[in-house]
Amino acid sequence: MRIADVQEDIDHELVSKEEIHTIIAKAAAQASKDYAGKDPLLIAVLKGAINTLAVFSQEMSIPCQLDFMSLSSYGSGTKSSGTVTIRQDLSTDVRGRHILIVEDIVDSGRTLDWLVKELKRRGAASVEIFALLEKPSRREVEVDVKYPGLEIPDEFVVGFGLDYDERYRNLDSIAVLKPEVYQGEQA
Ligand code: 5GP
Ligand code: MG
Ligand code: MG
Repeated sequence: MRIADVQEDIDHELVSKEEIHTIIAKAAAQASKDYAGKDPLLIAVLKGAINTLAVFSQEMSIPCQLDFMSLSSYGSGTKSSGTVTIRQDLSTDVRGRHILIVEDIVDSGRTLDWLVKELKRRGAASVEIFALLEKPSRREVEVDVKYPGLEIPDEFVVGFGLDYDERYRNLDSIAVLKPEVYQGEQA
């Protein structure tokens, strides 16, 4: 789906499809060098990071494995609940594995902070992060993003996997919604 297909809901496009792919390709090229010979396991947190993982993994020039985890830290709206629970766990034993978490966006940092600690607790050999987007002004917890993507302002964004109330995930770029789309909710 393109911006034009949901034009009435969109305030403006923030990151174009081309820019998204350029950011991911650059990080994947670096990661391919760093992880050569290490048989990395790429982990995406469902559902927001699926598009990012799909492109990232295809842009890697070395073999890697993929796995997924579903965590809840956000409800249906735009605010963090502050607590992280596992809705669906990995199918891989991470003991001794070199893990690269491929994330859509780092907001407060709480989800990633929790996940990095959890994977290390399970015995991962290393845990690093690629984040397509970061909102530095919203950070509450220090998280070391080894492969940073793009810093964006404190605006709620949708598209390229990111949803508002399960909608707009299949938009091929990243955009800011018109305020009236989520009116009634305190952002
Ligand atoms: P954090 O734990 O860093 O606060 O954010 C956790 C998750 O909240 C992100 O991985 C993402 O799924 C969701 N999130 C944070 N900011 C946004 C945003 O601007 N738009 C959408 N759609 N989801 C967001
Ligand atoms: Mg996410
Ligand atoms: Mg969401």
